[in-house]
Formats: sequence, C-alpha cells, structure tokens
Amino acid sequence: MTSTDPSSLAAAKARYDDERAKRVRDEGVGQYHSLNEYQLDQDPWADPNFTRDPIIEEVEVVILGGGFAGMLAATDLLRRGITSFRIIEKAADFGGTWYWNRYPGCMCDVDATIYLPLLEETGYMPTERYASASEIFAYCQLLGRHFGLYEHALFQTEIESLKWDDDARRWDLVSKRGDQIRTQFFIAAGGLMHKAKLPGIEGIELFEGKAFHTTRWDYDYTGGSPTESMDHLRDKVVGIIGTGATSVQVVPQLARTAKEVYVFQRTPSAVGVRAQMPIDAEWFRSLPAGWQQERMRNFTEVVTGNTEEVDLLGDGWTAAMRVDTQTIPTTDEQRAELESIDFEVMEGFRRRVDEVIEDKETAEKLKPWYGKHCKRLCFHDEYLQSFNLPNVHLVDTDGRGVREMSAAGPIVDGKEFPLDLLIFASGFEVTTGLVDRLGFDPVGRDDVLLSERWHDGTHSLHGVITAEFPNLFVVSFIQAGFGLNFVHFLSESANHITWLIKHCLTEGIASIEATVEAEDEWLQTLWKRSGAIAQYNKTCTPSYGNSEGARTMLAARGAVYPGSLMAYAALLDDWRNAGTLEGTRVVPNS
Ligand code: NDP
Repeated sequence: MTSTDPSSLAAAKARYDDERAKRVRDEGVGQYHSLNEYQLDQDPWADPNFTRDPIIEEVEVVILGGGFAGMLAATDLLRRGITSFRIIEKAADFGGTWYWNRYPGCMCDVDATIYLPLLEETGYMPTERYASASEIFAYCQLLGRHFGLYEHALFQTEIESLKWDDDARRWDLVSKRGDQIRTQFFIAAGGLMHKAKLPGIEGIELFEGKAFHTTRWDYDYTGGSPTESMDHLRDKVVGIIGTGATSVQVVPQLARTAKEVYVFQRTPSAVGVRAQMPIDAEWFRSLPAGWQQERMRNFTEVVTGNTEEVDLLGDGWTAAMRVDTQTIPTTDEQRAELESIDFEVMEGFRRRVDEVIEDKETAEKLKPWYGKHCKRLCFHDEYLQSFNLPNVHLVDTDGRGVREMSAAGPIVDGKEFPLDLLIFASGFEVTTGLVDRLGFDPVGRDDVLLSERWHDGTHSLHGVITAEFPNLFVVSFIQAGFGLNFVHFLSESANHITWLIKHCLTEGIASIEATVEAEDEWLQTLWKRSGAIAQYNKTCTPSYGNSEGARTMLAARGAVYPGSLMAYAALLDDWRNAGTLEGTRVVPNS
C-alpha cells in the first residue's frame, strides 16, 4: 500500500480539473487542419519528376501502405505461402512513419529489441537501446530486401478509387498513376498516424516566414541532416508549436544551433529519464530462440498492469505503467490505492522538472497536471535541460494554445513573436473518419460508400472487417486492441488478417464480411468493457487518445478494446480456433 498525503492528492485532483477545463474545446478534433490545405504536404524525400507506365493486373491481395503495418502483412502472407500481392505506397520507399519523420533527433523511445520486428528472422542487432529514425528507416529497407518485398511495391502511388464488383467478387482499384488492379482481398494498412495535422490558428495562412510540419523537414532551409548540425539556423529565430513526443525530440536539436528558439506550449508533456545505452552484443547473441516474441509479450503485459510478470525491459515505460490505474476499483481502499499510485508516478515527473529546470517560474509551467494514462508519456535526457539555455524560451499559453497568427508570427496574449521559421509539431489525425485518412472512399456492395456506412464512426467486427465491404481488412486500433508498442499491435493484426485470407483461399471462400448484428454486438462488448477507461478519461486533459475530449458518436465508436493487447490477441485466437467464423457472412467460390 502506498501512502500519499491526502491533501496533496486532493490539491492535485483539483488542479487536474482546472487544467482540463482550460483545454476542452467544443470543436474537438475539428480544430485541426490538414497540411494540403496550406500546400505543406509535398514529399521532401521523393523525386517529384518520377514517372512510370501504368500497370494492369490481377492479384490475390493488395496492401495499402509500406510502413510496418503493410510490411508485416506482406511478410505474414509470404509465411503463409501467398505470393500474389501488391503493396501500394504514397512514399518513395518503405518505412511509413520512419520514411516521413526525419526531423533532427527523431528516434523511438520504445526499446529497439521489441520495436524492430522480425529481428530473429533477419539476424539484425540494433545498435542502441532506443534506435534512431535513420537506423529504423534503414532497417525497414533491410526488411524490404530480406523478404523480397521491393518487387511487390508500387511507390509514389496513391489510390484514386476502390470499388467492389459483387459478381466477380473482386475489388477494382484505380491509382492516380492510371494503374488498374483487380484483387480479391484488400488490406488497409495505411498507418495509425500517417495524416499530419496543423493546429487551428486564426490567420495561420498569413504567416510569411518559412513553415513546415515535422514530418516534412526541410534540411535545405535548416542545413544539416538527421545526424549533422543545422548550421543555417545560426542567425535564425525559430518557433515550434506543440510539445508532444515529437517536439520533445526536436527542441534539443534546435537549441544547439538556432539563434533563438521559442517553444509554444499548450500542455506540457511528462518527460522521464530515457537512459540511452548501446546494445551489448554478447547479451544479444546469447538470447534463446523465440526471445523476441517473449520480450514483446512481456513488455505488453507489464505496461498494461500485469503485476505478476517479471519486468524484463525495466525502463521508464515499465516503471510508470506497471499498475493500470484505470481499473475500476471495487473497494474504497483500492480506489485510494490506485489514485495514490497514479499521483506518485506523475509527482515523479513533476519532481524531475524541479530537479532539472533552474528557473522556478519556467519549472512551474513545464509540470504536467493530469493522470498518467491521459497523454502519452515521453522519455528524453535533453529536452527539459534545453530550457536552461539562454537561447531557448518557453511561451506557455496557459492551456489555450496559439490561437492567432500575423504575417510575422504567432500572437500570444497580445504579444507578437516574429519568426524566421515556424515548425508545426502538432501531431497526426488518429480518431478522425477512416475515409478522410485513406484519401479515397471505398465503394462496397450495392454501391454503398464507406463514408456513408461509417458516417457516425467505425462499424466493425474486431476492428478488422465490416459489413457490405467484403474482403476489406483494416489495420487500426480503433475498435481493436492497442499496444503501447505499436509494432506488437501491428504484428497481432497482420497475423489475424493474413489468417483470414489464407483460410478463405484454402476453404474455397470467395468473400467474407461482418454481419451487422455482429458489429453491433462487438460495439456493445467494447462499451461494456470500456467503462473504466471512460471513467478515467473524464478527468483527463484532451488529447488524440480521447478524441480531444469529444462526446460525439464518432468518438464513442472510436473505442479501443480495453485492457491488455494480449487479451485482445487471445480473443482473436479463440475466435479463429472455434472454426465457425462467427459473426461473418461468407460466400463460397461459385
Ligand atoms: P502530439 O499530438 O502528441 O502533439 C501535438 C502537440 O501540439 C501537443 O503538444 C498539442 O497540445 C500541441 N498543439 C496543438 N494545437 C496547438 C496550438 N494551437 N497551440 C499550441 N500547441 C498546440 O503529436 P506528436 O507528433 O508530438 O506525437 C504524436 C505521436 O507520435 C506520439 O504520441 C507517439 O505515439 C508518436 N511518436 C512516437 C515517438 C517515439 O519515440 N516512439 C516520437 C514521436 C512521436 P495539447 O497536448 O494541448 O493537445
């Protein structure tokens, strides 16, 4: 039993409520804008003059997306002996988020031995415990070569339309490059966070300086590279909007070279110790067969509150998430215990601010006042330290965010901040409609549009299949399981989807889709089990994790299977093993 001074806890809870109230906005996710509204969506890494002849072909499977989701779906198809597939990718290479995000300092704060998939299959040893973006991107290319995925890929290609032909029981896909591809199965693996967003700021279009989103870093302007210093910034005044996990990694790099750096903050992140270290080759080579799956499982169990598990990873994540404080307490004693644990974890983050930050006023503004499950935690050893440097200035907006912009720069509390460069570290769309994030509107049976069928949010069985859209599989944690280690979730999702495809091919099934009844039942299951999270979320500051605090049907249908990803994986496993394909409508080959 932990003991916390009740008055400190009560004061913290009151402060959490105050901070939340400052931030809730009626617009919810509607406050944000897309990059292409402001012509900020160009791919800085691709050859804009690339052309190729269109192709006309028929395959068994089309995978949309060449990030880890698409690559894992592809390697799983190969594992199951399915070789007739195409991967369609907007970018010019594999990598997904690791293709786009090449901002300085970019890395993954989840342990590389569980984040980089298929390490046992490729024999690759990560160099450091927390791999840099460059290393991860190179590893994606290695996966592409190792598994022969390049020959399946159509890069710099976007889908124009996707239409189900119910007589042929095939999808007809047309790309913006004129390709016409007929496929039996379609996997939407376009990424969990692939669509970058801009903050809703009045007059944002007026800004006359240089501006870009962190996913579209312009090294021509800043100089340097992901590993070299940005020398062109030495005489530049730079602003950055957003203080989430991306900004936490970028700010220390800007601080190194820019003349002045203004960090515009709406809500401070909780930033713990990262403790980077090289991977010990002897230890790595001594790991027994099956070690990666076991390590992934162990991490997922530990960070979703399975206290029976031995903590194999032992890092900031496992320490902070060891106890799931979103659990609904059954006794007053347990309630007090959970509140106390949550408070103490967050107090640890707040104490670290006091230990690191020299200026007391700045320290107060950098303290996170919310529960530990409200926002994604961050781990970094240079971010907070940056605010002790004379060229780094925190512009705290007291929860309001930057709301006004002039030609010169952001305006906060009536004060204008003239900038040469403005960087948007404002994140990605997560819980907006799938069609919006896909960039095209699939046409299902009887010409029904996915945007119509899902006008009020996701309708699915297990988050994967949907009625009236046969053989369309979605990789997304909306209505599915979720793992702090995204790649673990993607592996489970790819495994399930490719099992379904293989099953259809071997059992002579032409198409499979969810029944409406099964979708409704699944939603009820999610809602019944989500009570604890919903209860906890009520006290949370808005974030992408809770649809920016929205109370809409879209947000409600965006529920995630609560609890451990392992529980979701076990549920899928049981469903597959039952062999009845319960809740689906299946049409045999004619
Ligand atoms: P986030 O959505 O986490 O952060 C966006 C930031 O922009 C928030 O601080 C938000 O404030 C702020 N913001 C939005 N509007 C305004 C405004 N008008 N004025 C001022 N600030 C504003 O995006 P990130 O790109 O940082 O991270 C997204 C996700 O990407 C992470 O959660 C993580 O899953 C992944 N990621 C993972 C990394 C890793 O190491 N594994 C590294 C980087 C990213 P508020 O909090 O108030 O909404």
